[in-house]
Amino acid sequence: MAKRALITGITGQDGSYLAELLLKKGYEVHGLIRRASTFNTSRIDHLYVDPHDPKAKLFLHYGDLSDGARLVTLISEIKPDEVYNLAAQSHVRVSFDEPEHTGDTTGVGSIRLLEAVRMSGIETRFYQASSSEMFGATPPPQNEDTPFYPRSPYGAAKVYSYWVTKNYREAYGMFAVNGILFNHESPRRGETFVTRKITRAVAAIKAGKQDLLYMGNLDAVRDWGYAAEYVEGMWRMLQVDEPDDFVLATGGNYTVRDFLQIAFEHAGLNWENHVRFDERYLRPTEVDALVGDASKAHQKLGWKATVHTPELARIMVDADIETDKHAGRHWIDTVELGSWGN
Ligand code: NDP
Ligand code: GDP
Repeated sequence: MAKRALITGITGQDGSYLAELLLKKGYEVHGLIRRASTFNTSRIDHLYVDPHDPKAKLFLHYGDLSDGARLVTLISEIKPDEVYNLAAQSHVRVSFDEPEHTGDTTGVGSIRLLEAVRMSGIETRFYQASSSEMFGATPPPQNEDTPFYPRSPYGAAKVYSYWVTKNYREAYGMFAVNGILFNHESPRRGETFVTRKITRAVAAIKAGKQDLLYMGNLDAVRDWGYAAEYVEGMWRMLQVDEPDDFVLATGGNYTVRDFLQIAFEHAGLNWENHVRFDERYLRPTEVDALVGDASKAHQKLGWKATVHTPELARIMVDADIETDKHAGRHWIDTVELGSWGN
């Protein structure tokens, strides 16, 4: 019998790579999607097979992490062997604008899903998408033993989810794990995260459609890895004998300025001619430096990042230049929209 997985956040960056991976491994994959007035499935459209087709292995269900009753119904009906909780309001800057909503989905949403698993009475393995943002102000290198000091409503909500996941493991013997993932990016990364904002701008500037890029704090240090590799680590966390928490990171140490330089240079451009400061992209409290130590994942899961930040930046620039060739005016409108507030 094929294993069955439920992914919340399947329409997001990580959800799309994880769905691909699990389908390749022969899983039946179920995804929670939000009803929207426009389609929000562009990252997984290439995986879609008409559910009437007997070969269909991917099934989508409407639902929302704010709707606990719906989660109980879905978990009881699907009876997944594995649940991956990737859904969240995932943007740090936006969490300062929408703190209560972020607390409700990124924090309380996780306990709704854990409760749905507990109430349905099924045996399942549970993955919680925890974040290096939980370390916040605690200096690097950060690993599984590093104290949390969140610096945003997003980080604080993720700390809550981390602890309730651990609590359900201890209180109810649930196989529930936290993957503490450092920033991971890809050509599918949301357009207002800093890496993708930069690589899309590089493509638009290269094509002569844009001249300037407005940015916030260029001194922040991040450990940017490649999302397609990180979903393999998530899956491995659910295949071990005992539930445990793991950091996934590259160990790299780059500033936003470094990323700008690598990305612009790859397209034959000088970033200093195109980048301007705009204070709207600063956060009320900043996370200065995140650099992960993933040695536990290497030892116990055999997982190690192979794509480091410079290669990742080049992959993303190449992909955005290619996308830009097929995009008309509409694409540029969304670049402008994307620069409104994040
Ligand atoms: P994305 O922002 O790309 O995807 C978020 C997903 O959550 C989308 O599918 C979104 O749906 C869904 N979602 C948002 N709110 C709700 C809700 N109320 N109910 C149901 N679904 C909802 O995030 P990523 O793929 O980059 O990240 C995946 C997870 O990992 C997130 O929890 C994120 O916080 C966490 N994380 C990410 C890191 C990274 O660097 N990428 C680092 C560490 C942790 P829709 O498409 O409809 O908006
Ligand atoms: P985060 O690490 O989850 O907050 O991911 P982001 O990609 O949103 O931001 C990474 C870092 O880039 C943070 O320290 C931001 O302050 C910094 N940064 C600088 N300019 C910008 C910008 O214009 N947009 C975003 N999103 N981040 C920026």
